[in-house]
Amino acid sequence: MSSGLMVTVAGEQVPLDECGWFQREKCGCIIAAVVAVVGSRVIATAEQAHKHMTPSAHTRAKEDREGCTWELMTMAHYRQHIGRRWECDQHRKDGAA
Ligand SMILES: [Zn+2]
Repeated sequence: MSSGLMVTVAGEQVPLDECGWFQREKCGCIIAAVVAVVGSRVIATAEQAHKHMTPSAHTRAKEDREGCTWELMTMAHYRQHIGRRWECDQHRKDGAA
């Protein structure tokens, strides 16, 4: 079942159901990902994503201090543009791209 929610991602209106939340380290590496909607479980904000993936408030505060951020993007965008290239330029291993 669809959540029926629409969100704006990169200037486009898309169903939240087609999106996922991605956690980046300060450098740009993606370190965690969670799809926005699974059945009746809906994650509509970055804060909810953080709480879902990191139940410990202590750990969340540490990640915030370290500059980790959450962003919403469509799974199609992720598959087309990121996928296996989830590491930033700095941390990408030679030949992995
Ligand atoms: Zn990195």
